[in-house]
Amino acid sequence: MLAGVIFDFDGVIVDTEPLHYRAFQTLLEPLGLGYGWDSYVADYLGFDDRDAFREAFRSRGVPLKEPELAALIQRKGEVFLEIIAAGVKPYPGAVELISGISGRLPLAICSGALRSDILPILEQFALESAFDIIVTADDVSVSKPDPACYRLTLERLAAACPGKGIAPESCIVIEDTPGGIAAALGAGIAVVGITTSYPAERLAGTIRIVASLSELTLDDLSLLV
Ligand SMILES: [Mg+2]
Repeated sequence: MLAGVIFDFDGVIVDTEPLHYRAFQTLLEPLGLGYGWDSYVADYLGFDDRDAFREAFRSRGVPLKEPELAALIQRKGEVFLEIIAAGVKPYPGAVELISGISGRLPLAICSGALRSDILPILEQFALESAFDIIVTADDVSVSKPDPACYRLTLERLAAACPGKGIAPESCIVIEDTPGGIAAALGAGIAVVGITTSYPAERLAGTIRIVASLSELTLDDLSLLV
């Protein structure tokens, strides 16, 4: 029986990837390390900020020391906030599906974004209280596709919602990237894929694929596990 639902954030609830891309380029272009949108989709999507900066430097053979990395991550967070202050739109059906689950089943976000990126957007959608727990890049030391973030999400959701039967096999994850799917599967959780970022053939291993969250209700999800 379905006990809990875990949402990825970027590419599932909100289309922030173009905004993250713009924030990265704002910092990387002056360093001569900028890259195109196609490279972002092919090589960077699914990385958290830390690994995305590391890869941008590594792929050009430019050394990156920890203090410089920390400064870049902080500045990128500031630039991102400036960009989202202009207003962000949720994906169709996202607010409705989340509102339909919230308060009825344990509900979590497991994201490679920073907490400071996520909370202001949830506030814009009046969803700041909808989730029982939120696990972000701030909480783990390795990003998806490593399953650590999903393992931690299960652990914290079970602690926040005792007696609700939270276990890998009783939860569903909603993800948009191959790396995110690999992370959830690595933690033993079934995945519904959404084709917002990648075509269906790249979302192997999922138990269902949808083009939009407006195709899903809590009842649909309950039938999947
Ligand atoms: Mg995503």
